[in-house]
Amino acid sequence: MKAFEYASPRTEAEIVDLLSAEPGKTEILAGGTDLVGLMKKMIVTPDRVVNIMDVPTLRSIDELPDGSVSIGAAVTLDDVLAHPYIDIYPAIKQAIRGISSMQLQAQGTLGGEVCQRPRCWFYRNGDGLLSPDVAEGANEFHAILGNSGPAKFVNSSRIAPALIALDAQLRVVGPEEDEQFVPVAAFFRSPHREGQREHVLEPNQFVSHILLPPIEGRTCATYEVRHGEGPDYPLAAAAAALQFDGFGIVRDANVVLGQVAPMPWISQEAADVLRGRKVDEALAETAGQAAVSRATPLSQNEFKVQLAKVAVKRAILLAAGYETGGF
Ligand SMILES: Cc1cc2nc3c(=O)[nH]c(=O)nc-3n(C[C@H](O)[C@H](O)[C@H](O)COP(=O)(O)OP(=O)(O)OC[C@H]3O[C@@H](n4cnc5c(N)ncnc54)[C@H](O)[C@@H]3O)c2cc1C
Repeated sequence: MKAFEYASPRTEAEIVDLLSAEPGKTEILAGGTDLVGLMKKMIVTPDRVVNIMDVPTLRSIDELPDGSVSIGAAVTLDDVLAHPYIDIYPAIKQAIRGISSMQLQAQGTLGGEVCQRPRCWFYRNGDGLLSPDVAEGANEFHAILGNSGPAKFVNSSRIAPALIALDAQLRVVGPEEDEQFVPVAAFFRSPHREGQREHVLEPNQFVSHILLPPIEGRTCATYEVRHGEGPDYPLAAAAAALQFDGFGIVRDANVVLGQVAPMPWISQEAADVLRGRKVDEALAETAGQAAVSRATPLSQNEFKVQLAKVAVKRAILLAAGYETGGF
């Protein structure tokens, strides 16, 4: 590991002062479950690491006057899971439970989960995030959607699809008391050149809070297709948030896929299938089909198309209150 300076600020302003505007010079350390491994392998080599776990404002879950729930970025996943304010957002709890690791849930934070780097093994082996070898290499766990550019990895966050489906926002803090509220849907991007991050944060900005809007009668769910129980990433996942009218007709819908594209993949096609209709198995199946209608699998991951379709179907059925059974 490269030698680095360690800073442990106590306020959000101090965090910003310690972050460099130059890419790669400084890194935020939250639970460290992702960052430390990357530093050990010299994939990430900052001069300074800024620990945010000792900043009290980043460690609480609060209800805001408008009924939103604000979660500090340094709140651990276990604390999110246990908090009663989160009970009305089952899609988030289901995504956290999917991690199935006492250690990662106790140590990992919500901000770190959202900002974690891709699990792409080309990247983790030091070949870069946009390695041209992915196209014809071992790409079975790579993208099946949004993969026409140089980025073919998948966004690894399990919770981001649920946050997007729920129209959550991130509070982003930067220099000179800059404070922005960024919809999670606009936070991620597909990098076009090596060194560009997978999100829109400047190097001297950080996520301070995750804001969940009032649920207002919406139902939501996450469904993951995994190859087994235990701490491993899903092969495909989806989150759905549905708003019904008084007659059980879908008035509005958000459907977001995870683990299938360089960014969480918002499926307008699936949402269009649902709007104005009553959810049943056939409709959920049609929505699943619509969600993968533009899939362009790589040489070894055609199987993910069917899994993504199933994930969408079952997330919708779960959100609509149907029992879906296991995979
Ligand atoms: C063996 C193993 C298995 C894993 N399995 C899973 C899994 O199944 N599912 C899963 O989701 N994750 C998994 N992870 C990844 C990771 O542990 C979790 O996603 C965890 O939630 C990351 O949170 P953290 O607080 O430890 O992040 P850190 O490691 O501290 O940070 C992760 C990244 O986010 C950045 N960051 C952190 N907080 C902020 C912030 N507030 N603002 C801006 N940038 C920030 C850091 O600079 C770093 O680049 C696994 C990791 C390991 C080592």
